[in-house]
Amino acid sequence: MPVLSSVKGVQDIMQRYDLHARKGLGQNFLIDQNILTRIADSAEINKDEYVVEIGPGLGALSRELAARGRGLLCIDIDERLKTVLEETLAGYENSRILFRDILKTDIESALIDAFHWKEIVSYKVCANIPYNITTPIIFKLLESCSHLQSATLMMQKEVAERILAHPGSKDYGRLTIATAYYAKVEHVINVSRNCFYPRPEVDSTVLRFIPLQKKMLSPEEEIIFKRILNIFFQQRRKTILNSLTNLFQIDKSTVEEKLQTIDLAPNLRPENLALQDYIILVRAFSQIPHKFC
Ligand code: SAH
Repeated sequence: MPVLSSVKGVQDIMQRYDLHARKGLGQNFLIDQNILTRIADSAEINKDEYVVEIGPGLGALSRELAARGRGLLCIDIDERLKTVLEETLAGYENSRILFRDILKTDIESALIDAFHWKEIVSYKVCANIPYNITTPIIFKLLESCSHLQSATLMMQKEVAERILAHPGSKDYGRLTIATAYYAKVEHVINVSRNCFYPRPEVDSTVLRFIPLQKKMLSPEEEIIFKRILNIFFQQRRKTILNSLTNLFQIDKSTVEEKLQTIDLAPNLRPENLALQDYIILVRAFSQIPHKFC
């Protein structure tokens, strides 16, 4: 079984398979056994549960996940990894490997096919994802994976800080509010750049997303929510009064009256509003005639 928890082990295996880490694919392989164990443990995978791993790479984390769950589906874009992944996962009969672009893959259909299910059952995701596509991966999981139970994801530390930011701080923004809308987010662990080979230029953080069972807004209100977030954070320094006036193309006085009914001061800036304020704002303003839907 290949040793994947040391620089030497990873270098050897890459040489043996004539592999070169591709920067463009975010290929930085985790080599710290202690961290690998902690990530897999924090995903809380029971013996009867299924896991999806996005970007298994050489399979260091995959092995941990396959050992814990009932079934593991690995999805990686890079077909050059096929032989090494098959070797790493040899003996784990419960694992399946698919070579696809995760952003172009219907994860739930892929699970049904891989395990010959009749219909989708709930599953978890655990992954050290490619950092260049962190945000699209998070939104794909939260917006279109209806049976996802939790996603334990490693990402660039700065992105995690934006997701966990508090109102009023410089990191607080669209990403914080949109992720909070879909999920409860927990900080799991910070991971130094020294735990990877090749060593990346950034540090990392693992977060755990637990999708909320009930949506706070209707599909139509969600469209307005997204429009509001876009315009607000494109013009972060503008007051909510000015941005709302622009967006809805109505009189300032009408916007002011509406804001008064929901107890929000017109001179607030987008970063001062918590998720709950946005929800109330969207519900109130979706009653105004608009052409967004
Ligand atoms: N999980 C491994 C490797 C992480 S590196 C470890 O921790 O060691 C990120 C992985 O994501 C690489 O294997 C890369 O090939 C894969 N990847 C990059 N873009 C992808 C995409 N669009 N879809 C699926 N996998 C992708």
